[in-house]
Order: sequence, then structure tokens, then C-alpha cells
Amino acid sequence: MGFELKTYLENKLIEQFNNKYDSYYRLYFISEESIWNGFSNFNSQFGVYFKGHEQGTLPHEAMHALNLPHTFDGIHFSDKYTYEAC
Ligand SMILES: [Zn+2]
Repeated sequence: MGFELKTYLENKLIEQFNNKYDSYYRLYFISEESIWNGFSNFNSQFGVYFKGHEQGTLPHEAMHALNLPHTFDGIHFSDKYTYEAC
């Protein structure tokens, strides 16, 4: 679902605005509920937020788009950034 919805939204934006927002982080707010609060992809420029998303969902997904994993995901060699225990 995520991939198809992302493609649909990105195509609709391009249809309406051409490449005007290519260099922006694009936020899509959906008025329907989902099993997720939102989603994004690592190393991307978009985030999708569903009805009922919380205040923290925006930065959460934006950080994923900036390639930041969950703190509980563990360390992977492919990760560009990770967390330091303090
Ligand atoms: Zn997450």
C-alpha cells in the first residue's frame, strides 16, 4: 500500500505543479485513518500522515526521510547515522 500511495500522491503533485516542489520535503496529509500514523522512506523527500497522527509523527517520519532509523532497530553497517548511549 505504501509504495502505491506514495506513487499516486507524487504523480498527482507533479500533474498539478510540475517539478515546482522537487527540492522540498513534501508532506501529504490524508483524512482517512490507517493502521499507521504515517510513513516515509529512508533517504527520501516525502512523508504521509494519516488521520489521527500524533504531534510526534511529523518529526518521526521526517527523520526517517533523513535516513535516521529507530533507536530500537540496532546498529546496521549501512546506516549513515545512529545513536550514542549516554
Ligand atoms: Zn518509524
